[in-house]
Amino acid sequence: MNEVTKLTAKDWASDQEVRWCPGCGDYAVLKAVQRTMPDLGASLEKTVFISGIGCSSRFPYYMASYGFHTIHGRACAVATGVKLANPELDVWIVTGDGDALSIGGNHTMHLLRRNLDCQVLLFNNEIYGLTKGQYSPTSRIGTRSPSTPFGSVDRPVNPCSFALGSGARFVARAIDVHKALPDVLKAAHAHKGASFVEIYQNCVVYNDDVFAPFTDKGVAADKQLWLKPGEKMLFANGAKGIALDHDRLMLKVVDGDDPAVITHDPANRAVAYMLVEMPVSGFPVALGVIYDDPRPTFDSAVLEQNRAAAEGKAPDLQKLVGKGQTWMVDKEPRAE
Ligand code: SF4
Repeated sequence: MNEVTKLTAKDWASDQEVRWCPGCGDYAVLKAVQRTMPDLGASLEKTVFISGIGCSSRFPYYMASYGFHTIHGRACAVATGVKLANPELDVWIVTGDGDALSIGGNHTMHLLRRNLDCQVLLFNNEIYGLTKGQYSPTSRIGTRSPSTPFGSVDRPVNPCSFALGSGARFVARAIDVHKALPDVLKAAHAHKGASFVEIYQNCVVYNDDVFAPFTDKGVAADKQLWLKPGEKMLFANGAKGIALDHDRLMLKVVDGDDPAVITHDPANRAVAYMLVEMPVSGFPVALGVIYDDPRPTFDSAVLEQNRAAAEGKAPDLQKLVGKGQTWMVDKEPRAE
C-alpha cells in the first residue's frame, strides 16, 4: 500500500508574494484556509480556487492548487462550468461583497438555487477596497465614501438573507480572525451542495473597525452567538439565550437558564431566516453554521442526464426540433 504523505499548511501556500495591505483581514482568512485544507484530506491537483475581481479575489494566486482569477462578478458562472467539466474537482469560490452581490448578484443567486457542489466564501468588508473605498451593496446607510460623499441612502443587502432567499441549503457566518473559522470551513466542505459562508473581513484602509461593535474583545461575549447543532442558543457566557416570541413570531433574548431557550437545529429554515435577520440593537450576531439541510446537487443531476444521453436514453433531437410550430417555406419570395 502506498503511504500518502499528509500535506501541511505550507504545502498549500504558493510561492507568490502576498499583496494585501498590512493588517488586512484577508491574511487571516488565507491562513485559516491553508491550515484547514490538510485536515480535509484535500489534494492540490483536485482543488481549484476561483475568484472574481476585488481585493479578496487575489486569493487563488496564494494557493498552491489550481486557481482561476476571473472577471468581475463572474466567479460563480466560471465555477459552474469548471465543476461540470470536471466534477472530480473540489471547487472553492472566493468573492467579495461588491463582486458577489452587485455585478455578480445574478450569478450568485443562480449558483445557490441550482445548488452546485462547491464552497462560496464571501469576504464581506462592506466597501469596495480595490477601487479605493466606494460604498458597496453591504455598506450601512449613511456610509460616507468617494461615491457617497453625503452618506449612502440605500438599504444594504444582508448576504445570508440573500443566500437563503436564493435557495442556499448551507449558510454560515464567521469572522476573519476568529479561531472558529477553520471549523466553519470544514462544515462547509462537508456539506454536499453549495455552501455559502459570509466572512466578516476587516478592511483596515477604507472601513477599519466597521465590525468592532461585535468583534472587539470587550463586547464579543455579549454580541456573538456561536451556534452549535443540538446545543442551546446561549451567549454572554451562558447568561443569555435566544427564545421564540410565540405571539410575535420572532426571536427574543431571555435569561440563559430560561427553559424556553431554543436548541439549534440547522435544518430549521424558518429559524435560520430569523437568526440572520436579528436586529442589531439588543441582539447578538448569529455566527457559525446557521443552516445546513442538503438536497441533490445541480452537477449530479446534469451528469445523470449526460449519462442517460450517452446510453441513448435522451429524446430524439430531430423530433424535438420538428415538434410544434414549425413550417416549411416552399415558394419563391414574391417579387416587389
Ligand atoms: Fe484589505 Fe482593504 Fe487593503 Fe483591500 S484595501 S487589501 S480589503 S485592507
